[in-house]
Amino acid sequence: MVFPQKHSATGTTIFTVMSALATQHNAINLSQGFPDFHIDEELSKALGDAARNGFNQYAPMPGLPILRQEITKSFKTRYNVDIDADTEVTITPGATYAIYTAFTAILSAGDEVIVLEPAYDSYIPNIEMNGARVVPISLSAPDFHVDWEKVKQAITAHTKAIIINTPHNPTGAVWSKKDWDDLAVIVRDTDIFILSDEVYEQLVFDGLKHYSVLQHPELRQRSFALYSFGKVYNNTGWKIGYCIAPPAMTQAFRRIHQFLSFTVNTPAQYALAHILAHGAAEPVHAVMERKRDHFLSLIKDTPFTIYGPARGSYFQVAGYERISNMPDMEFAQWLTKEYGVATIPISAFYSNKKDDKLIRFCFAKKEETLNEAVDRLKKLA
Ligand code: PMP
Ligand code: GLN
Repeated sequence: MVFPQKHSATGTTIFTVMSALATQHNAINLSQGFPDFHIDEELSKALGDAARNGFNQYAPMPGLPILRQEITKSFKTRYNVDIDADTEVTITPGATYAIYTAFTAILSAGDEVIVLEPAYDSYIPNIEMNGARVVPISLSAPDFHVDWEKVKQAITAHTKAIIINTPHNPTGAVWSKKDWDDLAVIVRDTDIFILSDEVYEQLVFDGLKHYSVLQHPELRQRSFALYSFGKVYNNTGWKIGYCIAPPAMTQAFRRIHQFLSFTVNTPAQYALAHILAHGAAEPVHAVMERKRDHFLSLIKDTPFTIYGPARGSYFQVAGYERISNMPDMEFAQWLTKEYGVATIPISAFYSNKKDDKLIRFCFAKKEETLNEAVDRLKKLA
């Protein structure tokens, strides 16, 4: 049997590899990003109610109208932006799918897409699966800011899109309004599309505010803004997200979506509409900021060096130069096997596997999980 290559990634995604290794070695899993605590009681009840009440058949292709309306209300309240629920919002089976669908809607063979690295690991394969070429640009350590001069120089007549991510996975960096303005200057007078991955929009700390591409009137006209409920309601396994884009771009997006998944889990859409209307018991940014602070207060008693600290997302990058000079992949595997704590090596987020000897911890965990993990890491001292 011969299978076409489709994309350049080799092997299995790092999130699967590290979670499997954690299970195999009975390690505490601070690798793949998912919460280990219960979801809001009201939300699980709403899911059961929707199924019991008979909402179990296909939802409309763009998503349940009531969910799309609740989303637009929430954006009006939180960002003061007007979005049309009918023509600008599409519910998807997760943000990863929405990113793939947006790329598929716009890319042709020979196009180029600028990717800022380190980057979530689905971007590059998704671009390549559409026959386009990736133009990677490294973010600048130690704070991982964007070097806009480098981005400007990377633009060619073939540049079709730029994918950006704020709050950022894996570094926890959060863009300022100035970053958006710099991006706007660079793409002005071009036909370049923006894919704005804002899945961690509600995970911003220290009194900072997420600035959405939807709040930038100029950039909004050319942007697919991509979201995931998994990061807001701690239910990553539900795999429900959405795409907000201007009507013509939404039409192009749905043109693909209708022949990929067509529609999304109906009872879950009802449950999400319900929780959006009624509000969760506690906003997720408050929960996660507490967890970040708790994790930071513990990790300072270990030999890890903290980068940042994370201003957003639920990830914290750390250096291990005081522990070892192993390559990061080897170090992450060694730490899982020998000390029982799984993390993600940052080289996995680079197309050329650039190794700055950094790892990523996920702190979206119960207090006792974080306590036990850091107790184990203290043995490294
Ligand atoms: N983008 C980023 C930056 C992420 O970290 C994730 C996490 N999985 C996603 C997209 C995808 O979200 P989903 O689980 O909804 O596909
Ligand atoms: N976004 C999550 C992370 O970065 C996991 C997503 C996945 O497993 N594909 O850990």
